[in-house]
Amino acid sequence: MTKACKLAAGNWKMNGLRADLDEAHALVSGLGQVSCGVLLCPPATLISAMAEAVAGSAVMVGGQDCAARVSGAHTGDISAQMLADSGARYVILGHSERRADHGESSALVAQKARAAHQAGLVAIICLGETEAERDGGQTLAVVLEQLAGSVPEGATSANTVIAYEPVWAIGTGRTPTLAQIAEVHDALRANLPDAAISLLYGGSVKPANAAEIFAIDNVDGALVGGASLKASDFSAIIAALDVT
Ligand code: PEP
Repeated sequence: MTKACKLAAGNWKMNGLRADLDEAHALVSGLGQVSCGVLLCPPATLISAMAEAVAGSAVMVGGQDCAARVSGAHTGDISAQMLADSGARYVILGHSERRADHGESSALVAQKARAAHQAGLVAIICLGETEAERDGGQTLAVVLEQLAGSVPEGATSANTVIAYEPVWAIGTGRTPTLAQIAEVHDALRANLPDAAISLLYGGSVKPANAAEIFAIDNVDGALVGGASLKASDFSAIIAALDVT
């Protein structure tokens, strides 16, 4: 069986101005030889400039969302092809903040993933339960339903990554136990359309907890929010992944 690729992905969310590209420069200059993938997903306004800033390095650039449609009269939307044209190779889709703030359903996420694939982008599809769902014992049912509904036909390890991000762990400093992460990742692996699709964990990953999370079977890397904004923190997470 082909092994899943390791990936450290940073999600800058709605943070970052041109001056913050200094962090991307610092990441590049501190990065030695790495065998894992390294990705930064800045706001759309910085994709092109960041792609230039990291050109020639191992750092790749991605978007944080794309439209389901290819082009046309959709004011304010950005197509997958536009992201690719700006230098993006990946796009995060179905992040819980978009599911919550913009009412994105799994069916819409699947349409967006299809658009991403058509534009040659790798779709990072996010899934995760709320705290109430975890407390209600629904975690596996929720994430497996999101997986089935959000991953389009034709998804393979070459065009798709899955990120398990418990909603209650994002930006809170709280994380599931290692056993809870393992339980969800094992269930996801068993239900992937292609077993070699990379499975990232996301939710308050920091330099201090990265190594123990990466040691879990079926965790192939992380989707990192807050700790990806500082090159020093993100570099430490990348280093923890690169030795596992
Ligand atoms: C995220 O934005 O996907 C995320 C996991 O954020 P944080 O690492 O800050 O919890």
